[in-house]
Amino acid sequence: MREPESRRAGKPGIYIDHNATSPAVIQITDTYANPSSPHEAGRRARDAMEKARANIASLIGAKPGELYFTSGGTEADNWAVWSALCGYPSLVTSAIEHHAILRPARRAHAWILEVDHAGKVSLPHLKRLLDGRELGEDGGVISVMHANNETGILQPIRAISELAHEHGQIVHTDAVQSFGKIPVDVNELGVDMMTISAHKMGGPKGLGALYVRQGVRISPLIRGGHQERDKRAGTENVVGIVAFGLAAEYAHRDMEEKRVRMARMRERLLDGIKEQLDGVRNNTLLLAHSIPNTLNLSFKGVDSEALLLLLDQEGICVSNGAACESGLSEPSHVLLAMGRSPEEARSAIRFSMAPSNTPEEVEAVIEAVVRLVKLLRGVVDGRKGHVSYPEK
Ligand code: PLP
Repeated sequence: MREPESRRAGKPGIYIDHNATSPAVIQITDTYANPSSPHEAGRRARDAMEKARANIASLIGAKPGELYFTSGGTEADNWAVWSALCGYPSLVTSAIEHHAILRPARRAHAWILEVDHAGKVSLPHLKRLLDGRELGEDGGVISVMHANNETGILQPIRAISELAHEHGQIVHTDAVQSFGKIPVDVNELGVDMMTISAHKMGGPKGLGALYVRQGVRISPLIRGGHQERDKRAGTENVVGIVAFGLAAEYAHRDMEEKRVRMARMRERLLDGIKEQLDGVRNNTLLLAHSIPNTLNLSFKGVDSEALLLLLDQEGICVSNGAACESGLSEPSHVLLAMGRSPEEARSAIRFSMAPSNTPEEVEAVIEAVVRLVKLLRGVVDGRKGHVSYPEK
């Protein structure tokens, strides 16, 4: 098996798993003091933090005072659900949310919206719920993600917000996967709360934020000191926040050019694989309605876990949609909700690029995927580039 030089040096050869996390682009900083300290060093730390807050807020069309830093996307998502539980009579979410929403939401007996075969949340289902009596008279919370982390499919958040507001509901969206990849504006989306995370676009891990529109009620999830305007206690991660601000700024620089470049590489990846392999199902069917970096493919007759391991041995990092818990591999809840069979869900691989990936890397990934899928299917039928795979 080939062992790329970069791998021997401790780095993977081709990293095409940027929805899992994106390597940090920024190393910093001299802001070491506690931003609550009144001395000069403390003031410098606070200034740096507030500059980052203002930067990030302006990138999403928000005011600085509407942004609360958290320990990541998970905390911000949990916080939105927690607030919904504490201050609002009902919670509606979708079947394809990240577990950071789904797990707490299930405990809260939330209403779960269906999705269609293309991975879009059902507006008719939401309409039925809102028109019915189940949600009660008073406004509740509706939480639907902006871009799905496994398929990349964008959700109709603007339409959801309009519908929800007509019925006196407030709207939260998890924009962890879209922020930094495409323009995300809270006013265009019409949302009242929004989650973002630093490490999906070159910022540090363990840092996120919850946007809360001025006037929207929210209860603290973490109580203690007076940080974050009494809404989120604990000394702020100043270094992380400054890095978050810089990474967000960097991600938004030449964003359209990066978007087009990633979309082209993704198209080539899809075409290159489909030209040479039968039995490939595209789970990111609506390419025009998705974040540009993500492609999710099911390979008929292939165990994605095995493909993942073989690709890893060649220095290629990708993901399967499966959530691994206690060593047990579950088929992706997202793909199952889209009506895929458990076999199709277990054969899915997610490719997720960053602008730093290159067309040459994409060619190498195509070559490896085609060769290894054929190997795993075990049967080459003699026609160049075609395989037959065992039927179920
Ligand atoms: N929401 C989505 C859609 C995600 O993809 C992730 C991470 O994979 C999270 C939330 C959690 O974010 P964090 O890793 O910052 O806790």
